[in-house]
Amino acid sequence: MPELAEEALKVIQSHPDGVLQSELWKLLDIDSRKCSRVVKKLVDDELVERIEYRKEGIKTYVIKAKKPAVDPSLLLAGGVLLPCICCEEECEVHTCPYLLDWIYQLAIEEFEE
Ligand code: SF4
Repeated sequence: MPELAEEALKVIQSHPDGVLQSELWKLLDIDSRKCSRVVKKLVDDELVERIEYRKEGIKTYVIKAKKPAVDPSLLLAGGVLLPCICCEEECEVHTCPYLLDWIYQLAIEEFEE
């Protein structure tokens, strides 16, 4: 990824609610045309989404970072799915035996590797 696109992505990711495209080019200290090209590349690469927005009657866009997909293998330990998924227990995370068992499985798995 070109350096400017990487920098733009970092700026966008640092604004969880998104950043206006009309502000982004100022933050990046580039002109608005160049900013549009960078944003287009990030949209094409599916790293950000561009949502139409009107500010004082003027059309602009909110640019939001897309969340990366979770690697499903990170939710498994010893072939066991993280118990918090679909858990209906009253959560006591510090003393939860289900979570503790799962963490042991994870430690065993990492020790065997
Ligand atoms: S920590 Fe235990 S109680 Fe809390 S959500 Fe996970 S499995 Fe359920």
